[in-house]
Amino acid sequence: MLNIVLFGPPGAGKGTQSQKLIAQYNLVHLSTGDLLRAQIAQGTELGLTAKKLMDEGLLVPDEVVIGMIDNALQANKETAGGFIFDGFPRTVPQAERLDQLLAQHDSGINCMIALEVGEEELVTRLLERGKTSGRPDDQDVSKIRRRVTVYNTETAQVAGYYAAQNKFHALNGIGPIDTIFGQICALIDQHKPATTDNPAEATREVKA
Ligand code: AMP
Repeated sequence: MLNIVLFGPPGAGKGTQSQKLIAQYNLVHLSTGDLLRAQIAQGTELGLTAKKLMDEGLLVPDEVVIGMIDNALQANKETAGGFIFDGFPRTVPQAERLDQLLAQHDSGINCMIALEVGEEELVTRLLERGKTSGRPDDQDVSKIRRRVTVYNTETAQVAGYYAAQNKFHALNGIGPIDTIFGQICALIDQHKPATTDNPAEATREVKA
């Protein structure tokens, strides 16, 4: 399995790049933001509780998002070639739990790729997205700035968790979408596990 964490503040381009990556690598896209919005759309109790926090730009409790990821891993484990985690993990306990869950499937994270974009550009992008996304958290500058602050104070340290495992890479998230996509693919290809599609590589991997 190939498991990628796509990392970065809200508006960095994770969702856009995820759509291109799932096609390129045959991966399942797991966005905790999308999973939570699906719960809200279904009117579940979980969705109702999460909505209040999401609308304020605050994080939903770890156990809620971990539970959703656990379910999604179980549901896709037979068919997925791997996963792109988008917007997850956002705290170190989430990252630790993700490692444990993937270990249960004899798997792990291959690499984390962070898209770096400055705050003023993020605000501009999210306000633009808010014109069509219908997301309350994309339509109010103070909520957008709170999400960026939450990212800087609570989420950014997750990068250190993966850096300690030599899995962290940062890219400039400003530029043409296809250029950034090419840079992401180059990093993923460095970390891709050997497969039976390429037996020579697989053999080399085993001997190394
Ligand atoms: P996103 O779509 O990734 O921008 O997420 C939208 C909102 O959903 C965030 O501002 C949080 O309120 C919530 N959320 C999404 N993913 C997580 C997560 N991994 N941990 C906690 N809250 C999350």
